[in-house]
Amino acid sequence: MRFDTVIIGGGLAGLTAGISLQEAGRKTAIVSSGQNAMHFFSGNFESPSADRDRIAALFAAAGVRTNAIDGQMLMPMGTFRDASLTLEDVTVFPDRHVADKALIVNFTGFHDFFSTFIADALEQDGTACRIRFVRLPEMEHLRLSPSEMRSVNIARAMDEHWEKVVADIRILHKDEDLILLPQVFGLKDASVLDKIRTALPARVAFIGTMPPSVPGIRTQMLLKRRFEVLGGTYLMGDEVTSAALHDGIVSSVTTRNLDTVRLFADHFILATGGYFSKGIVTTPTQVHEPLFGLDLDFPENRSAWYRADFFADQPFMNFGVKTDEALHALKDGEPVRNLFAIGSILGNTRKEDFGTAAGLAIRTAFAVVDNIKGENV
Ligand SMILES: Cc1cc2nc3c(=O)[nH]c(=O)nc-3n(C[C@H](O)[C@H](O)[C@H](O)COP(=O)(O)OP(=O)(O)OC[C@H]3O[C@@H](n4cnc5c(N)ncnc54)[C@H](O)[C@@H]3O)c2cc1C
Repeated sequence: MRFDTVIIGGGLAGLTAGISLQEAGRKTAIVSSGQNAMHFFSGNFESPSADRDRIAALFAAAGVRTNAIDGQMLMPMGTFRDASLTLEDVTVFPDRHVADKALIVNFTGFHDFFSTFIADALEQDGTACRIRFVRLPEMEHLRLSPSEMRSVNIARAMDEHWEKVVADIRILHKDEDLILLPQVFGLKDASVLDKIRTALPARVAFIGTMPPSVPGIRTQMLLKRRFEVLGGTYLMGDEVTSAALHDGIVSSVTTRNLDTVRLFADHFILATGGYFSKGIVTTPTQVHEPLFGLDLDFPENRSAWYRADFFADQPFMNFGVKTDEALHALKDGEPVRNLFAIGSILGNTRKEDFGTAAGLAIRTAFAVVDNIKGENV
């Protein structure tokens, strides 16, 4: 099979590149082996920087609405984080005094939403909090097993029964000016969020739960759908297992499911993520990139890989594939002329140019797509 570009990895970086290439009329395939960091997404795009408008436009075309507001976002454990571009699920507050009085609503038996931590934190900043629980007969089957009482399963039930929850909350509500709810609404259709906001008698803020992230999964589904609507080929649940790389050029890759059928392309984009997604693999003595054996940026001295303080910023999280200025991956010190690396597989090697986290994933994808469109390879 022949494509203009084959992207290895269908997370945020791979999908951003794939959508942008298809929009430019390039025949693109994405091979993606499984879960990605979007499934754990807080809803806050870190380091979007000057590309905020371009990012928001790409997401809007996919049906993903974002807020470009500078402020503070309330995290699942009750801490705050700076935000400048978020998914629409996230309420960005101007400061930490989020309201005079807040009603925090949870579901009976749902342990992945930390209402008590959130109340403790908000009360320190002068918000009086009341916590109440909602219990629906339609969710009793989930409560039979603690492993079923997870955000995504609740969200599936809520797609159908959100109006009953709203009715219960209207009874619970007294004089609070803010109602806080877990992010378990709108798995398939984000318009439910607006309907809930309209139906309740106070401002509503949806707060993150423990993973999986409902807004993140919805976003991943919408981006994938956008890529496919544009004509892209998404090989879900497949994995690139080997690559033909000779004289500084990749000619094709093979995948587990396609067996002997090879994927040929003019350009290849490596978007396989960091350790979390096995884009980079460690053994007790080595750190390596498993598909191409690319050059990695990391210290030889193993004791410099990590810090004993578990909560410290860990150096190994910064390790990544080395690239040239145009993001061509390096192998044995030389750029592979048609292979680019984007997203978290870069670690913090290009932090100054592209930022970190989601900002890095999206902005490196844009940079490579612009390079390919300009034929600067
Ligand atoms: C748990 C977690 C939570 C995060 N939350 C946030 C957040 O809230 N905000 C933020 O700004 N950043 C967050 N980040 C940072 C995150 O890394 C980026 O935001 C971004 O989503 C990374 O995207 P990516 O496409 O580079 O990698 P990934 O999302 O890791 O995707 C890589 C994909 O490649 C696939 N893959 C790997 N090897 C192969 C192969 N051989 N063949 C085919 N497919 C393969 C993997 O299965 C995976 O689907 C988080 C990171 C983690 C690990």
